[in-house]
Amino acid sequence: QRILMICGEPHLPYDRPPLSKELLLTASVEESLSFRSAGWYEEQAVALGLGVRAVGLDEREMTVHLGDGSRVSYERLLIATGARPRRPRMFDGFENVTTLRTREDAARLRAALVPGTRLLVVGAGFIGQEAASAARAAGVQTTIIETASAPLQSVLGSELGTWFADLHRANGVELLLGHRVASTRGNGRLDRVMIDDGRTIGCDHVVLGVGVDPDLQWLSSTVLGGPRSGRCGVRTDVDGRSEIPGVFAAGDAAAAFEPLLERHVRGSHWESAARNGARAARAMLGLEQAPPGVSSFWSNLYGTRVHYLGHASLADAVAVDGDPERGEFTATFTSGERAVAVLLVGRPRLLPQARELLRATTEMALA
Ligand SMILES: Cc1cc2nc3c(=O)[nH]c(=O)nc-3n(C[C@H](O)[C@H](O)[C@H](O)COP(=O)(O)OP(=O)(O)OC[C@H]3O[C@@H](n4cnc5c(N)ncnc54)[C@H](O)[C@@H]3O)c2cc1C
Repeated sequence: QRILMICGEPHLPYDRPPLSKELLLTASVEESLSFRSAGWYEEQAVALGLGVRAVGLDEREMTVHLGDGSRVSYERLLIATGARPRRPRMFDGFENVTTLRTREDAARLRAALVPGTRLLVVGAGFIGQEAASAARAAGVQTTIIETASAPLQSVLGSELGTWFADLHRANGVELLLGHRVASTRGNGRLDRVMIDDGRTIGCDHVVLGVGVDPDLQWLSSTVLGGPRSGRCGVRTDVDGRSEIPGVFAAGDAAAAFEPLLERHVRGSHWESAARNGARAARAMLGLEQAPPGVSSFWSNLYGTRVHYLGHASLADAVAVDGDPERGEFTATFTSGERAVAVLLVGRPRLLPQARELLRATTEMALA
């Protein structure tokens, strides 16, 4: 088999989770970001085309067009172009506004985390919360603005969302919940924003954590990059097959069918990107598949490890066990008798158990 990996970034493929965590505090982490050495790719006969973007797909000719004017043909194609952070227009043109997706973004933000300066974080999803956590560790005055009335409310509900809000407050973050940025002011540098109740918030740097869109512009002339996929990712079956024969997709650029939810779900987590990439590879090679795994995500906030597994949207009840005040608890989401999601806070050692619980109930539900 000949494998060619085309990547728009000039670096060896690297790990993104540290970009919003330890890399914001310690530059030397950058040295250990690459998944593999250049030698590994050579040994495995994987050719790397770094620093060159795919700009088009001709599915009839089974050819990908590249930004340098060349074309490559394929027998099987995996679309794994990830996602791009959203950047509302009102933030354009300001040099001190950062999104967080690449190692360059992280380096820029790290340089801005100067003790005593003011950071405004827009959006209290995991990326925004992790940026706030790193900023506080660096001694930066930090404000988070979020439209929902609690962080992660749409995923975990109000009660648990409030726990996250309290965690930030306890660590000195000012939270503006239930508000949005109405307008921005500054000349080259954004120095203040107006929020929807008329208040003005001053800032030295801004991080945008308002979500991502699948990076599919290069497919706009195909059915995969059309309006249906634009925001939700390339729809695939559980093994990564798209509707174009020979074309697969995985990771944040894809929306794989999730049998438990009976719908396609856009990728946004590290583990599912890795697992679905491997599933797509096995499907390409006609190899047998393992049963689908449990969806899971982790985060690190103020030194506390957070794991979220499964799909809380399926739940009709949630039970909390442990000591939320000490930052050590488990929230188990259930639908009838069945566990459908687990949130572990400060309990990394219970991860295998939680995984097993959800795996068993998943298999039961799909049987
Ligand atoms: C700051 C940050 C922190 C995160 N933390 C966590 C975490 O704690 N836990 C967790 O579960 N998940 C986390 N994630 C999410 C996780 O990193 C992603 O789900 C994962 O990286 C997705 O992998 P991917 O291969 O689909 O996409 P990516 O990792 O985005 O890789 C896609 C690659 O394709 C390239 N590309 C895009 N378009 C083209 C093109 N047209 N031609 C060629 N190349 C192209 C991109 O430049 C990029 O290098 C985090 C993400 C970020 C950004």
